[in-house]
Amino acid sequence: MKPYVFIDRPIPGEAEAHIAGHCDYSIWDRKEPVPPETLREQLSRANGLLTSGRRIDAGFLEAAPMLKAVSTISVGYNHFDTAAMKARGVIGTHTPDVLNETVADLVFALILSAARRIPELDRYVKDGLWKPADNEKLFGVDVHHASLGIIGMGRIGDAIARRAKFGFGMNVSYFNRSRRESAEREYGAVRMSLDELLRTSDFVLLMTPLTPETTRMIGRDQFRMMKESAIFINASRGPTVDEEALTEALREGWIRAAGLDVFEREPVSPDNPLLELPNVVTVPHIGSATARTRFDMAMLAARNLVLAVTGGTPPNVVPELAD
Ligand code: NAP
Repeated sequence: MKPYVFIDRPIPGEAEAHIAGHCDYSIWDRKEPVPPETLREQLSRANGLLTSGRRIDAGFLEAAPMLKAVSTISVGYNHFDTAAMKARGVIGTHTPDVLNETVADLVFALILSAARRIPELDRYVKDGLWKPADNEKLFGVDVHHASLGIIGMGRIGDAIARRAKFGFGMNVSYFNRSRRESAEREYGAVRMSLDELLRTSDFVLLMTPLTPETTRMIGRDQFRMMKESAIFINASRGPTVDEEALTEALREGWIRAAGLDVFEREPVSPDNPLLELPNVVTVPHIGSATARTRFDMAMLAARNLVLAVTGGTPPNVVPELAD
């Protein structure tokens, strides 16, 4: 008998066809979220789940007695309670590497936009405010040959460091729990303590996974340590930053500007005070959002799921659940 899997969102036809070739399945292919009764019914019999961002914890697993594997279409898996999954013997997979270059491009878009005030000055031109003598009012800061501190120099951090070093002649430093020798060798990246990185970087980029250790790792004390000219970029997950402290830091001029792809609450609330500040560049969690990369992520997630439910060895089991 074929394994039965539930796909809880629309995915590309090729990814669905791959699953159809190996499994019986149902797909929720509408834009609105799966209704709770449909989810309950599907979970009562599913051996596998293809999802993205859905919280998988003990309560969820209780409703899914046949579940063997959950495959998420994302590299971040902070929505997995890995202890609960391990206790139940449920495999969890994610989609590393296929999105590195796309996320790195977006990070550079944020760095350049915040440094050269692109959204603010785009508005200025479109609002008809451009005057001949405005020169200094339009100044930004240089990205080339500035210093970039990467907190979380992993797969994506590496692609960002390469752009920084070879594209912009930047000096790269990083903070990780362990050394990343390849980045030191290839990009001259210098490993620093978090405090030293915060004190010395022109651009501070947060690129860690969201874990209990990284939750609110950047708050009031950390913003206070940064240069007044520093530009802060967050493309990790919103809860790695204390947003109230970030708002204060930007409003009070502790730092110069910020570029944000992620927020504590998503979609961001329209009354979030960060949205009123001219020195904040925002985008709606689009790090990996190109058609090509989202397709590759969905294909990889489909392959991971099929291997996991058919007794194979998926290559992308999340580290906490890999033996
Ligand atoms: P990765 O290869 O695992 O890299 C993460 C890096 O963070 C590692 O080098 C790790 O080094 C470091 N790190 C982990 N915990 C840390 C801590 N407590 N203190 C300091 N450094 C720590 O992951 P990746 O593929 O680059 O992805 C990173 C994260 O980016 C994902 O988990 C996801 O949350 C986020 N992301 C966001 C988007 C977006 O759309 N904005 C897209 C993709 C990914 P050590 O283990 O040595 O500390």
